[in-house]
Amino acid sequence: METTDITIIGAGVVGLSIASQVARKDRNVILVERHSGFGQETSSRNSEVIHAGIYYPEGFLKAKLCVAGNILLYQICKENGIPHKKTGKLIVAVTEKQVKDLEDLLAKGKRNGAENLSIISSKEVRELEPHVTACAAIFAPSSGIIDSHRLMKFWEIKAKDSGADIIYGCEVKSIEKIPDGYQIGVKDSDGETFFFSTKILINSAGLESSNIAALAGIDIEEAGYRVYYCKGEYFSLGGGKHVFAQRLIYPTPPKPGFIGIHTVPDLQGMMKLGPYDYYVDKIDYDVDETNKELFYRSVKPFLPFVELEDLKPDTSGIRPKVQKPGEPMRDFIITHEEKRGLPGFINLIGIESPGLTAAPAIGRYVEQMVAEII
Ligand SMILES: Cc1cc2nc3c(=O)[nH]c(=O)nc-3n(C[C@H](O)[C@H](O)[C@H](O)COP(=O)(O)OP(=O)(O)OC[C@H]3O[C@@H](n4cnc5c(N)ncnc54)[C@H](O)[C@@H]3O)c2cc1C
Repeated sequence: METTDITIIGAGVVGLSIASQVARKDRNVILVERHSGFGQETSSRNSEVIHAGIYYPEGFLKAKLCVAGNILLYQICKENGIPHKKTGKLIVAVTEKQVKDLEDLLAKGKRNGAENLSIISSKEVRELEPHVTACAAIFAPSSGIIDSHRLMKFWEIKAKDSGADIIYGCEVKSIEKIPDGYQIGVKDSDGETFFFSTKILINSAGLESSNIAALAGIDIEEAGYRVYYCKGEYFSLGGGKHVFAQRLIYPTPPKPGFIGIHTVPDLQGMMKLGPYDYYVDKIDYDVDETNKELFYRSVKPFLPFVELEDLKPDTSGIRPKVQKPGEPMRDFIITHEEKRGLPGFINLIGIESPGLTAAPAIGRYVEQMVAEII
């Protein structure tokens, strides 16, 4: 049976970042992906926003890795010609109560180390975005947008150039603990099963990450590793209205854990609104057209130029959340499972937002864990 040093499950943006960090000529690294190419799940179904790191509780990996990832992403983009735009972002208040909420959010963002945050007046908002209604706003100049496909392509090439094998169309079906690591059973696209062994196994399987942890023998209920699906829907903004806002415009968060429906500008100059988030039992990416009215009502107070007929159902994505509906936000789980009797097994579970922004920092974080094991 073939033996490898490091196996990574999942070629989303996080698995690819990890592969590009841990691959080197003197190591055998395999990245296994069930689809025929990279990034066919959550990593290509998101807002492509480079977040500043404002919303997350102090001390969370989400906060630390987002703030670090923001800086790294701009560096990587500049050095490697990956399309991106530092648009800046406004989180707007339309009532006095929301202004108070913004002050709390600003303090949280500053504690997290998000760069150059400030509260600006309605006059200053009008100077930046004449068509947006606000009595005040948090201005986050370090927020932006990125071509996530090009980012993943860059990491795919970097990983391969550093010696990693990326095997597409291969689904991990079994994991068995063996004396010096793990035996992995994989079903290929012809339906054939093959086995190999690995010293280190990294679970970066996104929506499937809790199932992979269970395959390795972890009781996911007891560990708190069950992933709950939270769908985020987008509507495109037509009627030529995309020209009325240049930046990412977010409302004051409507409830804990939800950042609210916002503008999602893209690098082609068009605009979506979203996501509208709600928990679902199964994975399907249909967009519920009947939510149009809700989108309209949510954004009208701060984007007064939007009319109902401008909105058309667009895409959706699903976040793997480890908190159930109504529970407080939980952090990313990035853990070496030595204490559970699984040395060399690293789990990444609940890598929801800001997973795209944090991806380069997650890659480095996991590389440090690997260095301690090897
Ligand atoms: C609506 C929405 C909006 C978001 N907006 C943003 C944003 O603006 N900014 C931001 O920073 N983050 C955002 N995120 C979060 C971000 O998209 C994710 O955190 C990130 O894409 C997670 O990447 P991943 O590689 O962990 O997972 P994925 O992209 O899901 O990749 C996991 C991969 O594992 C593979 N896999 C699963 N099981 C197996 C198996 N058994 N064998 C082989 N392969 C397997 C899957 O096929 C998949 O390709 C958003 C998410 C959503 C849903």
